[in-house]
Amino acid sequence: MIDFTKEDPTKDSSSKKSVEKGGRSIPRLTAHLDTLDQGMEAFMQWLRSENKMSNTSNLITLKEFVHTKYSVLYDNTIGKNVTVETPNGVPFCKSCNADDCGHVGFAILLEQKYETDGSVAE
Ligand SMILES: [Zn+2]
Repeated sequence: MIDFTKEDPTKDSSSKKSVEKGGRSIPRLTAHLDTLDQGMEAFMQWLRSENKMSNTSNLITLKEFVHTKYSVLYDNTIGKNVTVETPNGVPFCKSCNADDCGHVGFAILLEQKYETDGSVAE
């Protein structure tokens, strides 16, 4: 007889690496903006860019901004307009159905910039 209760599954955890397997293939230079951090990076890139309407130098460009209501962004990595609603400053991305995607990160910084500077583009 083997007593299975004696086996401690937590003891043998030599391989703790959790490798995420997924069918997603991410092109080298056009990583999809699915984290807040990536969106914030895209925002900083956009903010520094010479031409804020340029899709070649920006991952995201701003199409429309209505403070505390919504932002319309153009996501260059997917080639689509994305609406992030920001009722009372709480952002939610209508495109991703998420509150933690890159577009939300971008919108958060937009709102912050607007509150600090009174505008989103100088
Ligand atoms: Zn999104």
